[in-house]
This record gives sequence, C-alpha cells and structure tokens, in this order.
Amino acid sequence: MRRNDPDVVVIGAGCAGIAAARALVAAGKSCAVLEAGSRVGGRAHTSGTLGTPFDRGATWLHQAQENPLTAFIGAHIDHDTVRGRHLHLGDRFANRAELAAYERALDVFETAIVEAPPEPDRAVSEVVPQGGPWDATIAHWLGAQINAAELSLISLRDYVAVDLEGPNLLPEEGVGALVARLAEGLPIRLDHAVTHLRWDGPGVVVEGEWGTLRAGAAIVTVSTGVLAAGGLRFTPELPAETLDAIHGLPLGLLTKYGFRTTGGDRLGMAPFHSARRLVERGTRASMSWIFWPFGRDQVFGFVGGAQAWELSRQGLAATEAAARADFAAMFGGEGARLLGPAVIADWGADPLFRGSYTHARPGHHESRAWLARPLAGGRLRFAGEACHSRFAGTVAGAWLSGEAAARGLLDKRGTVADAS
Ligand SMILES: Cc1cc2nc3c(=O)[nH]c(=O)nc-3n(C[C@H](O)[C@H](O)[C@H](O)COP(=O)(O)OP(=O)(O)OC[C@H]3O[C@@H](n4cnc5c(N)ncnc54)[C@H](O)[C@@H]3O)c2cc1C
Repeated sequence: MRRNDPDVVVIGAGCAGIAAARALVAAGKSCAVLEAGSRVGGRAHTSGTLGTPFDRGATWLHQAQENPLTAFIGAHIDHDTVRGRHLHLGDRFANRAELAAYERALDVFETAIVEAPPEPDRAVSEVVPQGGPWDATIAHWLGAQINAAELSLISLRDYVAVDLEGPNLLPEEGVGALVARLAEGLPIRLDHAVTHLRWDGPGVVVEGEWGTLRAGAAIVTVSTGVLAAGGLRFTPELPAETLDAIHGLPLGLLTKYGFRTTGGDRLGMAPFHSARRLVERGTRASMSWIFWPFGRDQVFGFVGGAQAWELSRQGLAATEAAARADFAAMFGGEGARLLGPAVIADWGADPLFRGSYTHARPGHHESRAWLARPLAGGRLRFAGEACHSRFAGTVAGAWLSGEAAARGLLDKRGTVADAS
C-alpha cells in the first residue's frame, strides 16, 4: 500500500456503506466511500418534490426496539398505534365483522407458514391455505406487497428467518433524510461508479471512469441486482459459492408512489390509516394506500411483485395511471380528482439498484450467510441488506451488516487486520 491509500474502500453510500464508514472512522481508520449516484442513502431517499417529505424507498423503521437506526431518530410516530386498516370489497369497505374474519384468516395463514416443516426448503406458496375467501388477498399482501415478490418465488426458510414485527416507526423527517444525516462528514465521493475491483494483489484496486484507487481492503455494498447484472467486474472472478449466493438472492420490486392531494376532502380516512382492495383469486390488481401522514396533503402507496415489474417495463406514466385507477376503484372518479402531482419511484428500472430488496429463492436460504462470508483472507467483504438474515431487506439489516463488515476488518487493537 502507498502512504495515501485508504485502509478501506467502501463501494456504495447506502445504509450499509454509511454504517461501515462510520464504524471505520470511529476506529480511526482511513476510508473512502465511492458512490455511483449523485446523492447518499441508496434505497433510503426522502424527496421534497411533493412539498412535504416523501420517502421514495424505505419508509418504516421495523422492529424498532432492535433497529440500530432507532437510536438516531427524531420526531416520529409508531404507525401500528394509529394505522386503522380498511379493505375495499369492490363496492364498499369491509365492515368490522368482515375485517375480523380477515384477521383470523391471516392468523391461520401465518401459523401455517411458521409451523410448516422447514425441510425441504420450498416456496412459501406450497404451505399456505388456498381457496378461502380471504386467502388470495392475504397471499398478495404478504408476497407482492410486503416482500416485493410472489410467495411462489420466496424460500420458506428465508421468509421465516426474517423478523419484522413492530413497532414500526415512521420518522417525520423521512427515513432517507435520517440516513443522509448520518452520512454527514464521512469521506464520500459521489459520482464515483466503480466498474472493476481487483483482489489478486496484496490489497485491493478499484477502477472507474474517474480513475484508480488502491486500498488495504474493500467492502462492497451494491445490491445483488447490480452484482448479478455484472455491474461490477471482479478480477479474479468471484468464487462459485459467492456467485451462487448472489443469484440466490434476487431483488423483488416494490414501486412506491406518492401524490400531493388537493382540496380538504379526507374521504372518511383518518391520518395514517391505510386501505387496499380485495384480491379475487387469479388476479393481482391491488395496490395499497396510506392517507395523510402527519396530517399532510399527501397519500402514498405501493405496488409490488410481477405487477410492479410489468408496470416498470411500461414506464412511469403507466404506473401513475395504474395507481390513479386503483384509487378511483375505491373512491370513484370524484375521489381520484383529489390526487395532484405524483412522484413514482421505480427502483427496477434504475441500473444502480435493479429492484427494491432481496428475497431468497426456494432452496437458497443459506445464500445470505454465504454472501456475508469474507473472501481473500478477509480483505474483500460484501455487506448490505442481502447479507443479513434476520433483518433482510431492511435498512436495519443493511446497517448491521455494514457495521459487521467493518468490525471484521478491525483486529482487537482496532487496526485494519493485515489480510494480505
Ligand atoms: C420501495 C421500497 C420500500 C422499502 N421500505 C422499507 C421500509 O419500510 N423499511 C426498511 O427498513 N427498509 C425498506 N426498504 C429496503 C431498504 O431501503 C433497503 O434494504 C436498504 O436501504 C438497502 O441498503 P444497502 O446499503 O444494502 O443498499 P443500497 O441502498 O442499494 O446502497 C448501495 C449503494 O451502492 C450504489 N452503487 C450501485 N452500483 C455502484 C457502483 N458500481 N459503484 C459505486 N456505487 C454503486 C448505489 O447507488 C447505492 O447508493 C424499502 C426499499 C424500497 C425500494
């Protein structure tokens, strides 16, 4: 290593990269964070375009008592205490008895998943009830709308290992703004896409159009979508187990949309309440909505899974039109006229992400542990939401895995261990 080379190069300034850099800097290590985009935060990004904060990506701090970001949060609300759920049945909203029946069916569904024998690992869809009046809606909700992929694509063991119970906190400033705050003062270089990483020498060498940088070690935090698409070349090639892990952890797609609303009509929905529509068996045309967060003139929601990928192929205008139509299906044309300008966050079309967050393919529940395994005697490490088993797919998992990768590079005296 030359005198000015950083101890560690971190690739990507999302949650994992920011957490890793903070841990390294706190230990007195030099590091350089190279970020391809022109902002920090990655899949945590708060937009101000609607006139009020709107998270384009990560929205809640799940499992708040154990979420490492809870320690940094400012004003917020525990969404579970005020959420009020509404289910539209096609011609009206479900009444209390119908909602209770739905909740009971949800319990049965979730119990079937948790109590299914873990071996052999298979798709979640293989162990859940089907055919009941609420089952298609529940499957759509737990699959496409929460996990960003249909239950037929998700490993049962991975699904069960991920633990995202409440409290679910909504930070008033937005998760993206919170994460950006935590990046302040770090040695981050924006617009520095890394295209090639060499790990055949004593340290690592990274290259991009901006030039070349040597370092003692590298932490790679780009999404598995970017890695699987060959967005970052490695010399030598990554081992077969690592490649297998990358391909075992595809990103699903959850497209988020936010609308500024106009006029004072609140459509009978209290702030923070949520609504979605019943899914008839065989269809998946249902999105989800959350109303007036923090009393703002804003509604936002999600479309996930195959439907989101299809809309992504059609373009932003198609997604916006589909969201407006979904809203109109619940509140009629009059209600839909409340929807003003929109922000559509399509993470699938963005080459810096290529999806929203990972699930493990059936049979690939060990991929997260494989991906997190250090290479090259420890000087090449992967981190990010894909590498965390319990909090996979979340800012918490990304953060903890970034910290773990940084800690793994520090020996007991706090120096970057000689991994050459
Ligand atoms: C719509 C949506 C809703 C979500 N909701 C929640 C939620 O409510 N709660 C929650 O906890 N999580 C949620 N998530 C997931 C959460 O946002 C992610 O798990 C987390 O932000 C991932 O962080 P990361 O550091 O692993 O990856 P990223 O955020 O993807 O960071 C990787 C960084 O690498 C950069 N990069 C890519 N290629 C290169 C390259 N070649 N060179 C240099 N840099 C590169 C990218 O620009 C990016 O900044 C949501 C995500 C989405 C998309």
